[in-house]
Amino acid sequence: MARKELNLNRVPMPKQDPVERARNFEEVSLGYSDEQAIEEANRCLQCPRPVCKDGCPVNVPIPEFIKALREGDLQASAQALKDKNTLPAVCGRVCPQEEQCEAACVLTRKGAPVAIGRLERYIADWILKQSEEASAESPSVSPSGRKVAVVGAGPAGLTCAADLARSGHSVTLFEALHTAGGVLKYGIPEFRLPKRTVEAEVQFVKSLGVVIELDNVVGRTETVDDLFEEGFDAIFLAPGAGAPMFLNIPGENLNNVYSANEFLTRVNLMKAYRFPQYDTPIRAGKRVAVIGGGNVAMDASRCALRLGAEKVYIIYRRSEHEMPAREEERENAKEEGVIFKVLTNPRRFVADDQAGVRAVECYEMELGEPDESGRRRPIAKPDTAFEIEVDTAIVALGTRPNAIIPTTTPGLELTREGTIVTDLKTGRTSRTGVWCGGDMATGAATVISAMGAGRRAAVDIDAYLRTL
Ligand SMILES: Cc1cc2nc3c(=O)[nH]c(=O)nc-3n(C[C@H](O)[C@H](O)[C@H](O)COP(=O)(O)OP(=O)(O)OC[C@H]3O[C@@H](n4cnc5c(N)ncnc54)[C@H](O)[C@@H]3O)c2cc1C
Repeated sequence: MARKELNLNRVPMPKQDPVERARNFEEVSLGYSDEQAIEEANRCLQCPRPVCKDGCPVNVPIPEFIKALREGDLQASAQALKDKNTLPAVCGRVCPQEEQCEAACVLTRKGAPVAIGRLERYIADWILKQSEEASAESPSVSPSGRKVAVVGAGPAGLTCAADLARSGHSVTLFEALHTAGGVLKYGIPEFRLPKRTVEAEVQFVKSLGVVIELDNVVGRTETVDDLFEEGFDAIFLAPGAGAPMFLNIPGENLNNVYSANEFLTRVNLMKAYRFPQYDTPIRAGKRVAVIGGGNVAMDASRCALRLGAEKVYIIYRRSEHEMPAREEERENAKEEGVIFKVLTNPRRFVADDQAGVRAVECYEMELGEPDESGRRRPIAKPDTAFEIEVDTAIVALGTRPNAIIPTTTPGLELTREGTIVTDLKTGRTSRTGVWCGGDMATGAATVISAMGAGRRAAVDIDAYLRTL
């Protein structure tokens, strides 16, 4: 048989023009056409030992779904994908594939890996277009008679709930907010992940029989112990890590200094992105400083542009090389005009009067030896203080877990950072009958790692319920 010729370049993803898109909230990446998807799928070598699969925390059968796609059998491709991934349209858009499945692709030794995420998105979007999808997925397993409560409708909770429902258990998902999706809805902006895409995947989870109770804050509306008394046999905690961290520098409580959580919640959940249909109280200002170098900082800076800011700065204390944000998102932000001020660290927020922040005073930084995170430690250079004139600042330093559930649930062991101690393989906590996964167990991480935790816990909860 003739050897397959290697195609080392991936099919580029069509995107909105940077100048236009910096002023609208429509999706930036437009998705592959049918021809582009087939062309990219044809690059896959269909390795006899597919290592790409090992790079995926939810074990998506990558070669199988790509093979079916290129043979034109989209139904089979969709089935392979959906059997393992409850939220493929989400993962196809926001997973850091470059660190996972695509990093493992053998083509990386010679050129660009297969664009697995883009192909996943293509098939997932095809699934969402199929109107009969929900009815085709109705569960056919016999009911186990066991009841599970899942707390938090983000990626960890949705995945765990879906897997347990597929195993025949009766699952109720309790969500504090008025809408399900977690960070996928209230954090990640519309131009990266449309709300309708998330909602369609939430509806899929409901179609499996999962009951979602919104506006229900576990620890306030009822406690974990109340849930056991109501007859739940097992509880999976997935409330995320939604409490913002701050710089703790002077001026941080000035007007127009936001946490990224508040800013993005106003944009997403309170629908500032739909102005003028929704006239949400939010002030993006004309000159905006976003402090931080992660995905959250990129999202906040790009939202500020879209809300009318003329100059938006990312202020980050290390170099761009150390930035935790995905490369794709950094590139998108730069293309849209966001200005990167790296090796720069804020010292205080400055105001002249009660009108709010007027400038961020910063130091220049240099990098020293690696610290406990493995990254080179940023050190302030003496006598380098300078001001950046701004009228809004957004602090995007990361988040930590909220204490509501730990403080109302006796017997849960916690780490110093406030995360719940869990067995990483099973999600078991120190309390019998209670599992935990996602950002609440690991600290702020990724969508796919939260989904992987939801899946592992579902396997263990299912085994536990069968022993009762
Ligand atoms: C702005 C932003 C951008 C990001 N971008 C990316 C990205 O591009 N790629 C990526 O992989 N990751 C990204 N992340 C990280 C990723 O979104 C999270 O790691 C992931 O959502 C964690 O999932 P989770 O299910 O643990 O928690 P969450 O998504 O936080 O969901 C937790 C849910 O629990 C609910 N809840 C909280 N407390 C209670 C309670 N007491 N009772 C009931 N419900 C409760 C919350 O309202 C929420 O709906 C981003 C995060 C942010 C904030």
